Amino acid sequence: MTILRDEIRPNPKATTKRLHVVTWGCQMNVYDSARMGDVLAPHGYVPTAAPGDADLVILNTCHIRDRATEKMFSELGRLRLLKLAREAAGQTMILAVAGCVAQAEGAQILARAPYVDLVFGPQTYHRLPALLERAASGSRVLDTEFPAEEKFDFLPDEAAPQTPGGVIAFLTIQEGCDKFCSFCVVPYTRGAESSRSAAAVLAEARRLIASGARELVLLGQNVNAWHGLGLDGRDWRLDRLLRELAELPGLLRLRYTTSHPRDMNDDLIACHGEIPALMPFLHLPVQSGSDRILAAMNRRHNIALFDRLVEKLRIARPDIALSSDFIVGHPGETDADFAATLALVARTGFAMAYSFKYSPRPGTPAAQRADHVPPDIADARLQELQALLRRQQDAFNADCAGRSLDVLFTGPGRHPGQVAGRSPYLQPVHITGPVSLIGTQARVKISRAFPNSLSAGNWTDLSQPPNQERACA
Ligand code: SAM
Ligand code: SF4
Repeated sequence: MTILRDEIRPNPKATTKRLHVVTWGCQMNVYDSARMGDVLAPHGYVPTAAPGDADLVILNTCHIRDRATEKMFSELGRLRLLKLAREAAGQTMILAVAGCVAQAEGAQILARAPYVDLVFGPQTYHRLPALLERAASGSRVLDTEFPAEEKFDFLPDEAAPQTPGGVIAFLTIQEGCDKFCSFCVVPYTRGAESSRSAAAVLAEARRLIASGARELVLLGQNVNAWHGLGLDGRDWRLDRLLRELAELPGLLRLRYTTSHPRDMNDDLIACHGEIPALMPFLHLPVQSGSDRILAAMNRRHNIALFDRLVEKLRIARPDIALSSDFIVGHPGETDADFAATLALVARTGFAMAYSFKYSPRPGTPAAQRADHVPPDIADARLQELQALLRRQQDAFNADCAGRSLDVLFTGPGRHPGQVAGRSPYLQPVHITGPVSLIGTQARVKISRAFPNSLSAGNWTDLSQPPNQERACA
């Protein structure tokens, strides 16, 4: 199916309709949900927080671990009642399922939930206006193709995107994955790796900055595998793109996530020492500390490579802090393999990390294996790993107390008179200070550390000299 740019132009006849989007999963889903809002805004859709008031409800789903499908069906059950209530009142509600569960289980969703009107995958949300037109005329619509056209070319660019978050904005630069880790559904639900051109990324970055963004978080399932058409007609890699983005007037901070160790090359590492806007915090998933399990996971990197990367990153940027992802209980994982994971965590030291119990995903190679780890053993390992990671996070945060950190203020705090922001290490920071700070970055002295946030008491601007001190902890 070909889509014309006309389909996303404002519809002059559009009357106001209400849109409620529920987002599960990663930052890429958050970005996608915002872009769905952008696609629908010219067609008269405005966001509502109340699903019962919505003409269109979209569940943007995540399939990375189990229970996603059951969670989605129970939410659909609740929405069905709201849809019936609206119909009884002479109104309508289009119920749509998007994202990776939609991609993986599209036809089953329509079969099991006959009140769902529309199912579409992560690669087709630029077609939403046309899909909705079909749904509104009574057809039940399924669109989970990986279309030949590039969805980013068909997203509106005339107006500033409606991306929420304002001061910190997500920007997807790369999608899909060709790595096929044994446990992961991403290559099946998001498709093959593809990168946007540098010109498209820079244009979206400028629009986000013009609409108030001061920090950009570049997103991709494998973001450091990004390579795209450069402004000079050559193929650029991420290091070149970062250098270009860092020059944009108005931009204070840059991050990129999620990176794969295999794609962490020396040029990219050098950026961490040379681009002041690039925050000294990197999410670098390692998954396991055992070479045997990394090979079983088809991760294409070993522990020696990961250790070397950590060393190089710390040489390039001494105040860098790291986070990571871990999976415990991958099929075949022994006590010795798990001990190697604990040893890796102990010697690396993480500012924070995500850890998950292996969850068999239908259709992935690991799910077919016969040597699954018994759930009670996997649970016990997860608890032990999480306790160690928690201690490291607590130590990292505690060490921030008494230090001066640059904080980018993003919005009002929870209590009157407070403003909230983010440290370079993404910790939430609360201070007592004026709302005029929002959208600015200033150096503050951290007075207290909590398990998941920091506070700086009363506002004092400690700006200057530029921050290059060592990481907390
Ligand atoms: N591309 C990134 C990488 O390679 O590190 C990871 C992206 S994946 C969307 C996010 C995280 O979910 C993974 O790093 C992994 O720890 C976790 N994950 C993915 N599949 C999983 C599974 N089947 N069971 C448990 N955790 C899983
Ligand atoms: Fe999934 Fe990341 Fe592996 Fe790709 S590299 S298959 S996204 S875990």
